[in-house]
Amino acid sequence: MKLLFATRNDGKLKEAKKIFNSQIFQIVSLNEYNSITEIIEDGKTFEENSIIKAKTVYEKFRVPVIADDSGLVVAHLNGEPGIHSARYAGENSTNLENNKKLLKELQNFSEPHLAKFVCCAVFYNGENIISTFGELTGKIIHEFRGRNGFGYDPIFIPEGFEKTLAEIPFEEKNQISHRAKAFKKLEELIEKNILKNKLSKK
Ligand code: IMP
Repeated sequence: MKLLFATRNDGKLKEAKKIFNSQIFQIVSLNEYNSITEIIEDGKTFEENSIIKAKTVYEKFRVPVIADDSGLVVAHLNGEPGIHSARYAGENSTNLENNKKLLKELQNFSEPHLAKFVCCAVFYNGENIISTFGELTGKIIHEFRGRNGFGYDPIFIPEGFEKTLAEIPFEEKNQISHRAKAFKKLEELIEKNILKNKLSKK
């Protein structure tokens, strides 16, 4: 089964291919398709945004789609930056600017600065929608450590670890990440609900 992943991010594609490792699935990304106008992610939740991405891409290419939306949810900040994680410090902001803004917002709160990464992953084939969630809990620290990863990785220590996500090797992060958990569940549900159904209809 061909699944079009609604992303142009090669890192995410690599991650998804590792998770959907069964021979049944062939994962391709938008990089293999014609251009698509920018998707306006104006949902109010991770789930709404992933459904918007999945439906927009399905309507254009008419092949089964998987999509995701993720971000960092910080307890002291009532869940912010949440769905605004990519642009927390403003439109076109860099990872460094977003991280600095977060540390500034947290400076007057008592430690630990508890936080979690959340991911919603969605499957859509024009008929069925399946959504799943994954979380990675941990805390924010006020120094930058490590060079791996992206986004808030250098200032986030997962629960049970002493290293930041940017100090943990890529492969290990992919075992524990919010995205890995959400996509693993999605794979299972697609197999159980979509593929088995197809077979029984024959
Ligand atoms: P998206 O779901 O790829 O659009 O992610 C939105 C934003 O959330 C990213 O730009 C990052 O700022 C943040 N984010 C999501 N996942 C991660 C992660 O695994 N590490 C660090 N930051 C992340």
